[in-house]
Amino acid sequence: MTQVTEAIAYAHQERGRFVSELKDLLAIPSISTLSAHKPDMQRAAEWLAANMRGMGLEHVEILPTAGHPVVVADWLHAAGRPTMLIYGHYDVQPVDPLNEWHTEPFTPTERGDNLYARGASDMKGQVMAFLKAIEALLQTGGLPLNVEIMIEGEEEIGSPNLEPFMRQQAAKLKCDFSLNADSGIISPTLPSIAYGLRGLAYFELWVHGPDHDLHSGVFGGSVHNPAQALAELIAGMHDGNGRVTLPGFYDKVRTLGVEERGELARSPITDAAWQAMTGAPQLYGEAGYTTVERTGARPTLEINGLLSGFTGEGSKTVLPAKAMAKISMRLIPDQDDKEVEAQLRAYLAAKAPPTIRWELKSLTSGPAVIVSRDTPAMQAAIKALEATFGVKPVMRLEGGSVPVVSMVQKGLGVDSILMGFGLPDDNLHAPNEKLHLPNYYKGIDAYIRYFDEVARLS
Ligand SMILES: [Zn+2]
Repeated sequence: MTQVTEAIAYAHQERGRFVSELKDLLAIPSISTLSAHKPDMQRAAEWLAANMRGMGLEHVEILPTAGHPVVVADWLHAAGRPTMLIYGHYDVQPVDPLNEWHTEPFTPTERGDNLYARGASDMKGQVMAFLKAIEALLQTGGLPLNVEIMIEGEEEIGSPNLEPFMRQQAAKLKCDFSLNADSGIISPTLPSIAYGLRGLAYFELWVHGPDHDLHSGVFGGSVHNPAQALAELIAGMHDGNGRVTLPGFYDKVRTLGVEERGELARSPITDAAWQAMTGAPQLYGEAGYTTVERTGARPTLEINGLLSGFTGEGSKTVLPAKAMAKISMRLIPDQDDKEVEAQLRAYLAAKAPPTIRWELKSLTSGPAVIVSRDTPAMQAAIKALEATFGVKPVMRLEGGSVPVVSMVQKGLGVDSILMGFGLPDDNLHAPNEKLHLPNYYKGIDAYIRYFDEVARLS
């Protein structure tokens, strides 16, 4: 019997306790954004620290930050083997609207295959899955590699103190690669791995015309309406093929190879299902790409909001003095957020008419991330998921961002493998959040296999 078989047998035998421990953690309302829950944050951190000490992890500490504390631990006895940093978060989202929950959000409740509670999937269930995998290995002879664990309490509020924390603890957190368990798979029967995340650049564009609102009867026809001018500028940002027209916008965008397009095409997502999910009359996007490619492998420019003139009830004949649009772009490696801002400015400088003034503010930005698919860490993840689910995982490019992944890349200089077992219908951040318990069990098995494979391949 290999150690992996032994560890998996241990995990299967302990399933009942692994679920009841998870319920204990879920019962602590660790809502990071509400100051009334500050004592609960401390309680959740202490619960985790005690659990980690109990299973044999070492140097377990609750380290303070300017906000909520970070729980760290390690086990560094695999001489000559690589060191993996495992990331998780113990904070959860608020629960409102409370009346839409079928059972109390902090009274974990099993119904069928699911365990309902706030944080069940995002991400106390994922945290406990990797911790229990570690326990299973520690109880059956030790870990095949060195691990450091970092569980923060501020992910749901944007991890404002994680970068300074990693800088301060850089020596302690030194590692060869990282595992971010804040992730999911496509369905209980189809595992997947996200190997790319789009970046973001977010702007506010103001167009100013006359120095005050004007009567449209008196002045209409003699002044360029800022709302109209803004609409014209926005309309010009895409061409008839759905491509963004900013000068140089696609110059640095990573191209898709034939093999990669083939991998992405294994996604079970159909256009019909995607359309049904959106409720839009028809799908739209850049010509020459599939929906899966458009949402993961291609950059976009979106208008997030518009503000101008009179929007109240009834009519008011006004020619507004100004108009504003919130504009964001999803970025693909190796687009640079500063370069993209310069491209937007160049577009506006060339296209804005002399009848208006424009002003552009940069609000937030973050880079895109792509993880090479042929590193040992990635190959190990693919093998572990295939062995656990009996089917080769689908490789995905995620449309959104996971800021922590780029923080870890920037702060510690290592790539993260995104491997978690949440499902698309887990109701993250919504009422009736749940964890699919078979995925919890499979997640534990998959992490055991992953730790073993990654130690072997590295
Ligand atoms: Zn999360």
